[in-house]
Amino acid sequence: MLSTDHTTLALELAQAGPRPIAAYLHVPFCYRRCGYCNFSLLANREDLHERFVDAILTELSWLQTPQPVETLFLGGGTPSILDQGAMERLLGGIRTWLPVYGNREWTIEANPRDITSANLALWRGLGIDRVSIGGQSFQDRKLESLERDHTSKELLRAIELAASHMPRVSLDLIFAAPGETLVQWEKDLRQVIDCGIGHVSTYGLTFEKGARFYGELQRQKITKVDEQLELDMYNLAIDLLGAAGIEQYEISNFALQGQECRHNQAYWSSERWWGFGPSAAGYVGTTRYVNHRATLQYLRRIESGRSPIQERDELSEDQQGRERFVFGMRQRRGVAWEEFKASIPKPTGDAIETTLDNHIAQGWMERAGSYVRLTRSGLVLSDGLWGEYLAE
Ligand code: SF4
Repeated sequence: MLSTDHTTLALELAQAGPRPIAAYLHVPFCYRRCGYCNFSLLANREDLHERFVDAILTELSWLQTPQPVETLFLGGGTPSILDQGAMERLLGGIRTWLPVYGNREWTIEANPRDITSANLALWRGLGIDRVSIGGQSFQDRKLESLERDHTSKELLRAIELAASHMPRVSLDLIFAAPGETLVQWEKDLRQVIDCGIGHVSTYGLTFEKGARFYGELQRQKITKVDEQLELDMYNLAIDLLGAAGIEQYEISNFALQGQECRHNQAYWSSERWWGFGPSAAGYVGTTRYVNHRATLQYLRRIESGRSPIQERDELSEDQQGRERFVFGMRQRRGVAWEEFKASIPKPTGDAIETTLDNHIAQGWMERAGSYVRLTRSGLVLSDGLWGEYLAE
């Protein structure tokens, strides 16, 4: 069954504008939902795995012609939850419709408990060359407070095993967990360095609407760490990891040289990408789109031949320029200013420059050679700065 599906439409747009070089595929399943998580996912629904694979393969088939990409990212949720049969079918379909070429990279996000020799061999054999481990901490008490379903020992074993099978391994870490101290956070950072891991993504714990911790915070059953302490934790990560050669290259990402995540770099460079699966976002031609967030809705739409897209925005040249600046500035190297300004409409460039000069005067941004970039104090504020660039 084939209807006015989004991918055919996106393909027409892609032919008119820059071609997508990356693809993100969302696997919306987890063993259970962590208290801080409000992502689009279903916990403990193994009964839906095969049905989901059928649906996303249908969505991919709506491309009608294979679309080569440089990077693939299988995120979630917990993609590693899929069993061998489902994984083989899914990855087989991805290889057919989204063949990877060039300076390739194919990442899977994995729960430490799924990192076994058998799974790693399976994923590697099917083309995956990077594993991103949802570890969050090496301390059991912190893992419990975050409601993670693995222990520190399991995480250490998973990192070692992953590194023995995969060319590249990344670890997610959370800081500012309830009750966490600076000394405890330092232990996590030192453990990362001792593990020899080449890439780290680290985020301060947030309390998002829709996550159970949000309600607990409102009812004062849980307390946030002090704002200054959270800042100190972030700064400590920059200093300690940097001293070990794991340099910050984006607001939340750190890597040994050459280990940077190419897929995320495509986002920050405002390249185009496809998105597949529930809640996945794409940017094709001049269109940004987001698939339906609810997995069951997503399944029903695809099964009845309807597009899973829930939102679609056409970006004007002005909006494209503003977004490109904001995404580029997330990177530590910043944006090559004159080159960037020459590539966007003059009124957009002038408007961005007025805000930029103000932020430079405030000490939040700086010029470094031909680049403009965030300063250390700008880094911690950055989420609060972007709105000023995006507003027309
Ligand atoms: S934080 Fe990760 S593992 Fe936990 S529920 Fe969310 S997606 Fe799943």
